[in-house]
Amino acid sequence: MIELKDIVKIYGDGENKVEALKGVSINFREHELVSILGPSGCGKTTLLNILGGLDKYSNGDLIINGKSTKQFKSGDWDTYRNQRVGFVFQNYNLIPHLSVLRNVELSLTLAGVSSAERRARSLKALEVVGLSDQVKKRPNQLSGGQMQRVAIARAIVNNPDIILADEPTGALDSVTSVQVMDILQNLAKERLVVMVTHNKELASTYSTRIIEFLDGKVINDSKPFKPTHIKDDAEIKEKTDLIKQAVVYDLEKDIDNNNQEIVNNANNIDKNSKNKKRNSKKSAMSFFTAFN
Ligand code: ADP
Ligand code: MG
Repeated sequence: MIELKDIVKIYGDGENKVEALKGVSINFREHELVSILGPSGCGKTTLLNILGGLDKYSNGDLIINGKSTKQFKSGDWDTYRNQRVGFVFQNYNLIPHLSVLRNVELSLTLAGVSSAERRARSLKALEVVGLSDQVKKRPNQLSGGQMQRVAIARAIVNNPDIILADEPTGALDSVTSVQVMDILQNLAKERLVVMVTHNKELASTYSTRIIEFLDGKVINDSKPFKPTHIKDDAEIKEKTDLIKQAVVYDLEKDIDNNNQEIVNNANNIDKNSKNKKRNSKKSAMSFFTAFN
């Protein structure tokens, strides 16, 4: 469904050049909770931003449903971000002067949904994260865990199939972290959830796959995914060899048939010319007879 192919990301140039990702290839399943682990500065946020279309790769390709994004225009990226991806950030990114409900509704306001539907869908999303009784409050009247749950409600209200969470429990204590992880785990039953975390324990308890990064590269993937339609090189070579042999065999057969046809044609021409001679003799004779 979504695949990173040899992604390179370079920030700046000259002396300021930073290669944040140095050839990252990852294939994601439709439903899984992937934790990205690695030290600060190794490219985790860069990776999420590229996956979510918030930032553009310098080289390589991001494949969405089998389609390359190399030719994507800014409108294509907008559609992808708005309709397919939900983001959750470490610092929640809620708007302080708006109620919980309005914060969630805001993502739908942008998508041009009617106000009644906006309200109904936002209330549903807030119910999923267990905040039905807090919808009128402002973010600063909530605990950190509750704010992160509002952020998750906002991320799922468009019903995206990918949730990207950058250190979602980074600012939370262990009890509220578990609440947030429970929700993400549930969401991953029917979506792809990719989460960046420093917390190895949470990662191994909750995720179905752990990918470790170091210095812009994947150094370990606990459960790589190889879609069935993607064959490895040896398999591809074997198939191509078989196809080549079949083509050669067909060509040889064609040549044989052609040769046979040429022989047949030559025989026919030969026969025809003999018949003609015979016929011309016949007609010559009958003319002669007639003359007589
Ligand atoms: P992580 O999330 O793993 O801590 P980041 O993806 O944020 O790492 O950063 C990876 C590298 O890219 C770091 O060296 C960082 O300084 C650099 N970097 C990230 N964003 C930018 C940017 N907008 N401009 C220049 N350098 C950046
Ligand atoms: Mg980061």
